[in-house]
Amino acid sequence: MDQLSIKDQTIPYEERRSARYRRITLSILEDRLRISAPKNVSVKQLQELLLAKQEWILKHWLAKQAVLKRPARYSDGEHFLYRGKTVELKIRRHPRQRIRVYLEGQELEVYLSQDLEDKDCAPHVQKALLSWYKAQARRVLQDKLEKQAERMQVCFQTFRLKEQKTSWGSCSSKRNVNLNWRIIMAPDAGIDYIIIHELAHLTHLNHSEQFWLRVAVFMPEYAYWKKWFKDHGQELRL
Ligand SMILES: [Zn+2]
Repeated sequence: MDQLSIKDQTIPYEERRSARYRRITLSILEDRLRISAPKNVSVKQLQELLLAKQEWILKHWLAKQAVLKRPARYSDGEHFLYRGKTVELKIRRHPRQRIRVYLEGQELEVYLSQDLEDKDCAPHVQKALLSWYKAQARRVLQDKLEKQAERMQVCFQTFRLKEQKTSWGSCSSKRNVNLNWRIIMAPDAGIDYIIIHELAHLTHLNHSEQFWLRVAVFMPEYAYWKKWFKDHGQELRL
């Protein structure tokens, strides 16, 4: 793989060419930068673009590395993902005992009792974040599930929030839909893909050609998101 040097960082990159690409796109993956370009773009044009985009590439590359360099310390200033956006953890103190979590713009504020010593905070923050993420997931996923079910004209029995190691969702023959709460960290369109995928299983309980055709009816760009979860799934964790 080729490498790109920006400041003191070495960033591996891969170049993909296809007549299907209409423009040059840069994607920051876990271990590399991917450049997708139309066939007719010259090497010089590519180099110019990379040069012009240096700051952007570096910023996003470092942000991604920071996310991957877990285990999280749950300390002030740390970054997490929520619905595809990077949010910054802010630890604040208040006189009350109860821990509270608020999302204010790009800041995820965790209010801890001022009696708690700094060195004891991390496990409390971790627990508070986990329950906050699950609560958001329950609300947002339920809402999206109902909307998509109506669009697809299917009925599901129950929805359960799960924490599966290897899957983002599942659907049973009893028409129960299970969704992994971690998908709340993915972009909204990605969440929609998982939901449409599971709801399509209400019609086809397999991954047949007909199943994928049905997914495509409700999400023509599903292949992008299917791949997205392969490339980015590792990042969806606390
Ligand atoms: Zn499936």
